[in-house]
Amino acid sequence: MFDQQIQENIFSLSKFVYYLCIHTGHFNSEFLYKVKDSGPGNLEVITPFKGEGVNSYSIMMGGEIANSFTTLYEGEYFLKALFLSGLASVLIRNGFIAKYKELLAKEVDNLDDIIQNDLRGLDSDLILDNMKTPLVAIVSSLDNDIVPIRYNKHKYWGVDESKELVRCSEIGPSDYQINIDTELENYLLTKMDKDILIEISGYDDISLEKAKIIQLYRSFQKLTEKLGINIKNIPLYFSLSPINTFSKLDSSNSFFEVLRALYTLDNRNLQRKLSRRHEPWIISWKCSKCGNSSKSVLYSKLLGDGKTKIKCRSKKVDFVNESGESITKSGCGHEVNIQIPKDKEGIRNFLIEKKATCNFTVKFLSNVLKDYYINPICLVAGDIGI
Ligand SMILES: [Zn+2]
Repeated sequence: MFDQQIQENIFSLSKFVYYLCIHTGHFNSEFLYKVKDSGPGNLEVITPFKGEGVNSYSIMMGGEIANSFTTLYEGEYFLKALFLSGLASVLIRNGFIAKYKELLAKEVDNLDDIIQNDLRGLDSDLILDNMKTPLVAIVSSLDNDIVPIRYNKHKYWGVDESKELVRCSEIGPSDYQINIDTELENYLLTKMDKDILIEISGYDDISLEKAKIIQLYRSFQKLTEKLGINIKNIPLYFSLSPINTFSKLDSSNSFFEVLRALYTLDNRNLQRKLSRRHEPWIISWKCSKCGNSSKSVLYSKLLGDGKTKIKCRSKKVDFVNESGESITKSGCGHEVNIQIPKDKEGIRNFLIEKKATCNFTVKFLSNVLKDYYINPICLVAGDIGI
């Protein structure tokens, strides 16, 4: 069943296995979220206990809070991550990883060939069995610093007009409504999507972020059922980043040191290269005058004196969805130049107080920091191509 997939992806899979062998990172469950499943109509989003998880491994995948249904690419990310977790579990349970670590210590020069040969010889049924009780956590990383209007998706969750330009992290239970009886029903929602949304509408007092977590959990459950897999046995977690992460990290965390270092003028060139912008930005926050939080409307820039300029642009911006419909918005023209604190504690407090976000290059690079909340083995990426 998986022979062809292994052969076609042999190079990337052997690299994945290599990273399983050299991984020295962490998996800090207490910074994440998961679903407590007590049956139909009885799901709850909770924070896991500290130290949860079988080992320090994790696989990261994307997800979009603004989608009220599971898109094909979200489903694909999950199934890819589950396959990788199952594959890794075969190798851990059957002593392959221990063997590779020994070979690494002996500095053999053909480890890659050995891994590839072993992978080609794996039994598909064994992989599927291990996908039923995988050992490697899957973390769906949900960006909560985007606004629902991005890609013109605010309609999907019935977000109140006054909240279209507010970040997903700030959308509470009364700011959105689930209504499947709309034009969306005709071309976006399957019966499964509708059933899930009806269930979610029965939960009291859940934020948009938590509604999305429940929505993803239920649809992944339906997908895994088709493979004879019980989702309750999958170590599936969710992260709400970057905004929730800032407040959960201690001020001694090296993430704040990275931000502090990027604010030096020497490192502005580094940030230029990372973000491929001549006028790079590192930290951004909502307009203090009109509350606009869209990164398409706000213009952020690191100035030569180390200050950050935030301008709420009055220029009209189009937000376009997948079917080409667009909506136009603009900011109020307000502009500020602010000095970011130079010490780690000050930066942390500033980020929390302003409900600030950081450039995606910084956010993704932070996942290699040893004391960050998780250090994933890989990020499952790429869409289904349609
Ligand atoms: Zn404004």
